[in-house]
Order: sequence, then C-alpha cells, then structure tokens
Amino acid sequence: MSKLILIIEDNEKNMKLFRDILQVNNYQTAESTDGKSGLENARKLLPDLILLDIMLPIMNGFDVARALKDDPKTKKIIVIAISSFAMDGDREKALNAGCDDYITKPIDVRTCIKKINEHLIPQNPSNQESTKAA
Ligand code: MN
Repeated sequence: MSKLILIIEDNEKNMKLFRDILQVNNYQTAESTDGKSGLENARKLLPDLILLDIMLPIMNGFDVARALKDDPKTKKIIVIAISSFAMDGDREKALNAGCDDYITKPIDVRTCIKKINEHLIPQNPSNQESTKAA
C-alpha cells in the first residue's frame, strides 16, 4: 500500500514539481493551496506526511504546523516545512512550530525525495546505498 502525502503549496509550479516527483516515487498525493484548507484536508485524510509551504494564503505554514501538532489526532503526522533559502530564521521557526524537517526553495528534487524517504521508509543499515556515518 503506497503512502499518502499531502502537499500544501500555493505556487502552481512547485505544486506540479512535488506532485510529479512524489508520484514517480510511488507515493499517493493530495493537494491544498492554502493553509486553512490544508489543515482541513490533513484532519480529514490523515496523510502519512505533509509537505508544508510556509508562505501560504489565509493561514501561514507555522500556524498550520502548530495546529497539527496541538491536535492528538494529527500530531503524529510527519511535517516537512518548505521555505525560501533567503528567508533567514525560517528553519528554526518551523522546527519550533513543531515541523519534523525542513527543505529550502528552490527545490532540489533529489534532496527532497531523499528526506521524504528517510521519514517514511524504515531504514535497513545493510541496505543503504550510502555508507555515510549516522
Ligand atoms: Mn507559498
């Protein structure tokens, strides 16, 4: 059974990029284009992971993350925040808001999918392509 990833992103180009790389990697996707509907979708769908843009209409990503992590029903969902490399301090703010990880824009496809897999696929030490120390 493939895992479900909810993409909360208001930029159409980035949405398409995420959708394409996730589907190629056999993930199911759901989409929201603002913070409020993203939160509603998260509560309804209970996805395995959420890609959460920070700059969103109606409700920003920090507030969405806080609401998710404050709710026992959604607090276990892995949340990866996405923000522009230029936005100084966003990484710390995102982690403080309860996000589990952070990715910078512009999106590097390989980094992005690697991070998602790290969170969703149980790691078998004998089965890793890299021998990077833990
Ligand atoms: Mn945005």
